[in-house]
Formats: sequence, structure tokens, C-alpha cells
Amino acid sequence: MNSIFNQLLNVKGVVVETVRIVDSPLRPEPVLEVRVRPRKGILRCSRCGKRRHGYDQGGGVRRWRHQDFGCWRVELVAMMPCVDCPGCGVVVASVPWAEPGSRFTRDFEAECAWLMTVADQKTVSGFLHVAWRTAGDIAHRVADRLRADMPSPFDGLTAIGVDETSYRKGHTYITVVVDHERRRVIWAHDGYGRDVFDLFFRQLTDEQKASIKVVTGDGARWIDSCVREHCSNAERVLDGFHIVSWMSDALDKVRERLWNQARHEHDEETVKRMRGVKYAVLKNPGDLTDR
Ligand SMILES: [Zn+2]
Repeated sequence: MNSIFNQLLNVKGVVVETVRIVDSPLRPEPVLEVRVRPRKGILRCSRCGKRRHGYDQGGGVRRWRHQDFGCWRVELVAMMPCVDCPGCGVVVASVPWAEPGSRFTRDFEAECAWLMTVADQKTVSGFLHVAWRTAGDIAHRVADRLRADMPSPFDGLTAIGVDETSYRKGHTYITVVVDHERRRVIWAHDGYGRDVFDLFFRQLTDEQKASIKVVTGDGARWIDSCVREHCSNAERVLDGFHIVSWMSDALDKVRERLWNQARHEHDEETVKRMRGVKYAVLKNPGDLTDR
């Protein structure tokens, strides 16, 4: 039976010693208690993560909540070995089924974190029978671990774009920075202007700044001065969206002036011809109809 539970746990480096249904010090109802130990020879220091020789069993008995098995709560129980680490001293070993310091197995935490992405915290805590705050803490821990394993979105940037946009009916502004090459948003922050864009560059290493060759955006001076200060090698490029939008505004002003002029001069013919021309002048020649 131990070997079946070994397969059910599906964690490398775990040896199942006994399985039984007993009262748990942590819960009012009996639990399925799986006594385990890390396989010898794979002990690692819980501080630096390096492979170390075992020292003793001085870490005491610990319990970890694992995913339920049918209607039973499952707890892993192990005597914690200590390791003798030249860098960290005699410290408790890390175990292959859980993160250092956690009372939950890694599989339990992963399930909880995934559920939090598709359901609200109250539902998840009720479903997994954990405290509301615990569900949130677990999700944060898992997210931090995943983030630490991910390559930085600031590595290898060559062309970035910056723009400010408003939400809440134009009352609140945020600044957004995109990576043109990988076509994704890499940074966003409340507010706009030099001080805000400056915060973005402060998160970058010198090497990351140096790889940026192009910065697109509108013609705002705060973009110019930030780019000059932080990546002087980069070329400032006005982005297509703003150029088209300025050209359209300029064309519309010309149209308005001609229209007013024609009306002042009582030039009925021109006024008639100009009527409805607003959208025609903004169209591509190929899209124009005969009218
Ligand atoms: Zn160590």
C-alpha cells in the first residue's frame, strides 16, 4: 500500500513509511495521515538550496496539508532532518514536497493558486477548507515563485513605446510601456509625466537600458528628456497613431476655415460642396466613392 501512496503523491525523492486514519492535532475530524521522509542522499539546505549531508533529526515532527483524498483531509507527517551546511550552519533540510516554512504541500498550493484565478477567494477557501486569508497568502506565494522563475520582461528590449491613457471618464491617468518586438505591455503606473516614466527606467539595469534602440511615443517633452537621460543611444520615433491623429486634426482645421470663409462670402456653391466633406478628406483616395 505504501508504494501505491508513493505513486499517488507523485513527488520525486519521497519515501512513504505508513498510512493510517488518525486524529490530527490540527483538525476536529480524523485525517488520512501519510508518514513520509525525504529519500537519503537528496537532502538540501533549506536556506541556500545546496545539496548537503544529513546531520540529525533535530528539526522535529512537522505536518503539511495535502490535497484531499476523497472525503478525507490528507496530512503528510515527517521528522525533519537537519543538514550541516558550510555556509548556513546546522539548519533544517528542505523537503521535496513543500516550500521551506509552508504548512502545505507544493501540489496543494498549486491547486489553490490555480483556483484563485478562476474563482473568488471566499469560494476557494470554502472549497479547500482553508481560512480566507490563507488562500490569499498561498496565491501570493505561488505567484512570487512563478515570477522569480520567469525571465524579466525588461531583458533584451530593443524598441519600446510609451503612452498615457485615461480611465474613469478621463479623470485618472496611467502610463503604459510596451515592448514592440514581443507585442506586449511590460509596465504600467498611475499618473503620467517625467516623474512616472522615470520610475520605469529606474527599474532597469544599465545593460537593459543600453539594449533599447528605439523609443516611440507622442511628442511630449517629458518623453524626450527621460530618453536623453536614461538611454541616450536610443532614437526617438513619433508613433504612427499620433502622426495620423495630428494630420487629421490639421486637415479638419483647414476644412473648417474654408467652410467659414465660404459662408462669410455667401459662396453658396462652395458651402454646398463642402457639406459632408469632413469624412471624405480623412479617407484614403482608394476608399472614396464617386459622391
Ligand atoms: Zn546552506
